[in-house]
Amino acid sequence: MERTLSIIKPDAVAKGVIGKILDRFESNGLRIAVTKKIQLSVGDAQAFYAVHAERPFFNDLVDFMISGPVVVTVLEGENAMQINRDLMGATNPKEAQAGTIRADFAQNIDANAVHGSDSVENAANEIAFFFSEREIS
Ligand code: GDP
Repeated sequence: MERTLSIIKPDAVAKGVIGKILDRFESNGLRIAVTKKIQLSVGDAQAFYAVHAERPFFNDLVDFMISGPVVVTVLEGENAMQINRDLMGATNPKEAQAGTIRADFAQNIDANAVHGSDSVENAANEIAFFFSEREIS
């Protein structure tokens, strides 16, 4: 059993497609172990995306991630990390395959609807960033 972290970003929350996105996960064999809607602080967003701190888009990314509430979810299942990445589609929605979450719900590379852990190791760290072990069932 593998776990991964999903974030439904502020653009998708504002569009009212939380349920539609969570349905993609459940319809594709992933289990929702825990989920919550939260408002990130500047410090939260900077820390979560610290790996991108030197990139030119870092400030835009942080500003976007704090522009409204997000939905943070732990997904569980066999190959959960890769299944979620496949469901998400490419980072740039213009390059995302038809039928993926980003192709269907994202507007551009900044407002691209979802985050998903990109390795099992990162998933463990990202899950621990948002949840304590006893919150995850
Ligand atoms: P992801 O794993 O597919 O979300 O992509 P990354 O981890 O590479 O990047 C994190 C987030 O930073 C992406 O989801 C985008 O919102 C943003 N991002 C990545 N690359 C770019 C870029 O070249 N330009 C801009 N404006 N944003 C980017």
